[in-house]
Amino acid sequence: KQLSSSQIRQMYLDFFQEKGHTIEPSASLIPVDDPTLLWINSGVATMKKYFDGSVVPKNPRMTSSQKSIRTNDIENVGKTPRHHTLFEMLGNFSVGDYFKKEAIAWAFELLTSPKWFGWDKDKLFMTVYPKDKDAKMYWEKVGVAPDHIIEIEDNFWDIGQGPSGPDSEIFYDRGKDFDNLADDDPENYPGGENDRWLEVWNIVFSQFNHTPQDTYEPLPRKNIDTGMGLERVVSIFQHARTNFETDLFLPMIRKTEELSDNKKYDTNKKDNEAFRIIADHSRAITVAIGDGALPSNVGRGYVIRRLIRRAIVNGQRLGINEAFLYKLVPVVGETLKSYYPDVLKQKDYIAKVVRSEEDRFNETLADGLKLFGQVVKEAKANNQTVIDGPTAFKLYDTYGFPVELTQEEASDAGLSVDKEGFKAEMQKQKDRARKARSGAKSMGVQRDLLIEIKDASEYVGYDTLDVDNAKL
Ligand code: ATP
Ligand code: MG
Ligand code: MG
Ligand code: MG
Repeated sequence: KQLSSSQIRQMYLDFFQEKGHTIEPSASLIPVDDPTLLWINSGVATMKKYFDGSVVPKNPRMTSSQKSIRTNDIENVGKTPRHHTLFEMLGNFSVGDYFKKEAIAWAFELLTSPKWFGWDKDKLFMTVYPKDKDAKMYWEKVGVAPDHIIEIEDNFWDIGQGPSGPDSEIFYDRGKDFDNLADDDPENYPGGENDRWLEVWNIVFSQFNHTPQDTYEPLPRKNIDTGMGLERVVSIFQHARTNFETDLFLPMIRKTEELSDNKKYDTNKKDNEAFRIIADHSRAITVAIGDGALPSNVGRGYVIRRLIRRAIVNGQRLGINEAFLYKLVPVVGETLKSYYPDVLKQKDYIAKVVRSEEDRFNETLADGLKLFGQVVKEAKANNQTVIDGPTAFKLYDTYGFPVELTQEEASDAGLSVDKEGFKAEMQKQKDRARKARSGAKSMGVQRDLLIEIKDASEYVGYDTLDVDNAKL
């Protein structure tokens, strides 16, 4: 079946509505009342209040297509066929209502029934937790061949304490052509995974309470939560080589071709990576800014800044030397308008925010790239493999290069960055600011306040911001 992304999204929701689920709207990317989470990163993240019992839902069966951001995948974007920063997670949820038997039977029906997805069951592989004999039994019962059920020790969802349980993931066999051939250099894919088997759906059977004493007690009311990546499913329906050759990303890629210096998508690997990063990041920043995030040096704002600046550097690769990302905002809006009409409504505001961040970075970008180029050249000439802390800090502080961006660029050039050295420079900067502040005490409250503000917006934040360790 050749379906559009919006038809596919709707088909999922309709199916579960038919099974008695209430369709929940996609919640804001910015978590409400949840300081442990930087971004909504899954469907279930918006439903914590139901699963921890603090709120009782009107209907214990719910379904949604939830926009989600995962910063741990930033570096995968453009390199793998399947990872995005912003993606939509289709999900169905049971709060103490149906459990394993129904979850498995409905999953199979949705995927294989000609009325719904209509996929060939021979292309599907189900993974189960080895001790979860029930899951295996239910898959067999609905008609999955035993050699398409694979036991995997990792299939256990556990965050340390609270609800936990086995899960079952569904992989789609994209065929021999994808046997490490999804791009011209599959070796480059992180983890050396094989792109032939695409993970599309994760079904979590939340049946234990992981206690502080480290035991697993059966939950009196068991829950189901599932997550299916819309973009991956669309790539299968639209026979796309990767998620990027679908109606969700191609419009941004085409627009970027137009804006580039005569570059065409699918010419070479390096350019493809740049096109994909720009398509992905333009989408993420557009939707996130629409949800109220703004570029800054801390927390969520830093993620936005990092994505914008990484996209700009990749624009340079395609010969784009002026502000351009803001022109992708309405294109993103078009691709999402059927389910997220607000994006298009807010396009002028979002474009303005993006444009001003682009202008700001573009002021220092050329000089920063020049410095970076020199450093790489010198390092190579001296047989060094590391960019030192002070240089990385100068790129950050003077030229606005997020240190992760410097790391990514360095790694492309075969170098690494002394991150500890960078942090030490950051600390020195903070100490200097603190001294200046106490020295300025005598100058009166006003001055003191001003320094405080500058301090907070420019340096202090880095402490609270550790994207590596941010709880995702
Ligand atoms: P992967 O192994 O491919 O990184 P995952 O196991 O980390 O995926 P889950 O946490 O199981 O992903 O999330 C449920 C589903 O959401 C996945 O099966 C996939 O379809 C989708 N998904 C997860 N991360 C991403 C992402 N970064 N971009 C697009 N889709 C994603
Ligand atoms: Mg992952
Ligand atoms: Mg996985
Ligand atoms: Mg998974």
